[in-house]
Parts: sequence; structure tokens; C-alpha cells
Amino acid sequence: MVAGQPSIFARIAAGEIPCQKVFENDLLLAFLDINPLSEGHTLLITKRAVERVEDLTPEEAAEIGRVLPVLVRKILAVTGAAGCNILQNNGRVAGQEVPHVHFHIIPRREGDGLGFRWKPQRRSTEELEALAARIRAQ
Ligand code: AMP
Repeated sequence: MVAGQPSIFARIAAGEIPCQKVFENDLLLAFLDINPLSEGHTLLITKRAVERVEDLTPEEAAEIGRVLPVLVRKILAVTGAAGCNILQNNGRVAGQEVPHVHFHIIPRREGDGLGFRWKPQRRSTEELEALAARIRAQ
């Protein structure tokens, strides 16, 4: 994205670029991902141009929490998928390509071959306690 230019999702929210809409209200919009990882792969975005989760207003965050389960129920009912991953890439380092808050809803089926490369690290209880205390105190 060119600095200062609206992101592709801001342009979709503004109605300048078409999308396959599945849900809309005053704060949020949901539409099908153009390059789905599975059938029904949907993106839930804020209408307001905001890049990261930590920049959401409490109202937007609450609305996302309210709408996500509703959308998941609809998507699973229509696709017949057994479950889904809800994924939010927050920041470039986390794989965020479009700098506009969006939650992926990715329907999952047995044997679909999708997955993550998690590499869990070992930490002592003392290390975890100290880190949790720092985050609580922040
Ligand atoms: P992320 O890596 O989390 O930023 O994901 C961006 C997602 O946006 C990808 O899954 C893309 O396929 C999807 N995407 C990009 N442009 C469009 C578009 N015009 N309409 C729908 N989905 C899009």
C-alpha cells in the first residue's frame, strides 16, 4: 500500500470496490475472501479504517465479539464444515498483509490439509509467573 492511500478493505467498506457481502451493520462488514483457504472463508472487518486490534474502540471490539459467533453459526450451517479457525493477523510481523483490522473465519473439515506450524517453546513456571506479573502490572 502507498502511504496515505486507503487500504483495499477501506475501499471495500466505502463501497468503491465490490465484495461478496455476507453481513453488514453500522460498524462492521463481512465478505468472502477472494482467495479462500476453504469454502466459506470469510473476512470480518471494521468499517472504520483502523490498522490494528489495539486501535479498536471498545464499541468496535464489543461488536466484533457479538457478531463473530453469529457469523460462525451461519457459515458452518451453510458450508457443513465441522469447525473453523478464527485468525487475526495483527501487524506485518504476524503476517498481516492488508493494514485494516480483519478477522478470518476459515471453515475446517477432517483431512482438509490446512494447518499451522506452531513451534512451542519450553518456559519454566518462574519465567511464566514473572512475565504474567509484568503484563498484569503494565
Ligand atoms: P492478511 O494476510 O491477514 O492481511 O489477509 C488478507 C486477506 O485478504 C487474504 O486472505 C486475501 O485473500 C484477502 N483479500 C485481499 N484482497 C481482497 C479482496 N479484494 N476481496 C476479498 N478478500 C481479499
